[in-house]
Amino acid sequence: MRIAVAKEIEVCERRVALVPDIVARLIKQGLEIWVEAGAGERAFFNDAAYEAAGATIIADTNRLWSEADILLKVSPPREREDGRSEIDLLKEGSVLISFLNPLANPVIAQKLAARKVTALSMEMIPRTTRAQSMDALSSQASIAGYKAVLIAAAALPKYFPMLTTAAGTIAPAKIFIMGAGVAGLQAIATARRLGAVVEAFDIRPAVKEEVQSLGAKFVEIKLDEETTAAGGYAKEISEASKKRTQEVVTEHIKNADVVITTAQVPGKKAPLLVTEDMVKQMKPGSVIVDIAAEQGGNCACTDPGRDIVAHGVTIIGPINLPSSLPVHASQLYAKNLTSLMQLLMKDKNVEINFADDIIDAACITHAGEIRSTRIKEALQTVTSAVS
Ligand code: NAD
Repeated sequence: MRIAVAKEIEVCERRVALVPDIVARLIKQGLEIWVEAGAGERAFFNDAAYEAAGATIIADTNRLWSEADILLKVSPPREREDGRSEIDLLKEGSVLISFLNPLANPVIAQKLAARKVTALSMEMIPRTTRAQSMDALSSQASIAGYKAVLIAAAALPKYFPMLTTAAGTIAPAKIFIMGAGVAGLQAIATARRLGAVVEAFDIRPAVKEEVQSLGAKFVEIKLDEETTAAGGYAKEISEASKKRTQEVVTEHIKNADVVITTAQVPGKKAPLLVTEDMVKQMKPGSVIVDIAAEQGGNCACTDPGRDIVAHGVTIIGPINLPSSLPVHASQLYAKNLTSLMQLLMKDKNVEINFADDIIDAACITHAGEIRSTRIKEALQTVTSAVS
């Protein structure tokens, strides 16, 4: 059984799928690990460290992809500079484990099925207690929440904490966090550690206690509809609820020095929470960090991947925040991957057990078929939009 770690070719991807410590553990279990030359370089894990852990370094990309039984990656496979798709390099019947974003990009599932690859998408792992150690969405979102606060603190022309000095007293910064999921909760914790006064809002009322336990105030808005879907995720809300929400949050946005937006609804464009009119009402010098920038953004003025100033407010739309902390992001992701592989393997061989709810949910293609109805529906929508 040969497990291979590919070098990421996405420009802004600095993470690597396995780190040397984890490689050493897998090798102790009798597995063969190949690592593409330079795969860990941008996360500060050099080839020598992988070799010392027992991995074989492979310089020939085509060989690594085509001879792997299990290919591990972080970002979805893509077109290479030579025009060939990474998917086409995979061996028929091999297993690919990676972030694949199949609901937003169902065509990838179509290509993987055509290549007869068994693909497991890290986004599709259920958010259940048993799957916690494999939950890469959580491990990476937590990094995004932490880093967003650091970015905001660096961009704010003010202190975060309250200070009493001989030259006078400084009031603490006010931070408003919109969306209190995994990233939002980590953002609250980080902003509190920096001494800011924190308020948070989420359409799921269930997060109120978690927000309060981190020392933030929960902004409560009563909506006349169910806002939580199966699996604990948020549902898309009606126009009336959106309007009601915007009325209430405007006051909090106006008073905030920093707004951090993290709101997402799985498989949908990120909801618009901060309109341009709300930005106009903010204090000059305030900062918005929009973690949902890649999914369309929660702020109307966000320009994904760029920092802009609009109406005196700095608006930052970071792309791939977890990649900006590549050492720990890779370490946690590698742990998520190995936990999943333990479920996949029996006696050093791949044994796909669809009776296991985690494998059933995460495995998006097998034996030439797309397995998930939601992905098939998403594909249908894309294909009918094109034709
Ligand atoms: P996410 O990234 O999909 O969304 C981030 C947050 O945005 C969510 O809290 C969501 O409610 C909120 N949101 C969506 N629309 C909004 C709107 N219009 N206004 C304000 N907020 C809005 O979510 P996530 O952080 O990946 O996880 C969401 C939830 O999944 C968790 O809080 C939890 O319930 C569940 N979860 C469970 C486990 C587990 O049990 N092991 C692990 C992780 C997550």
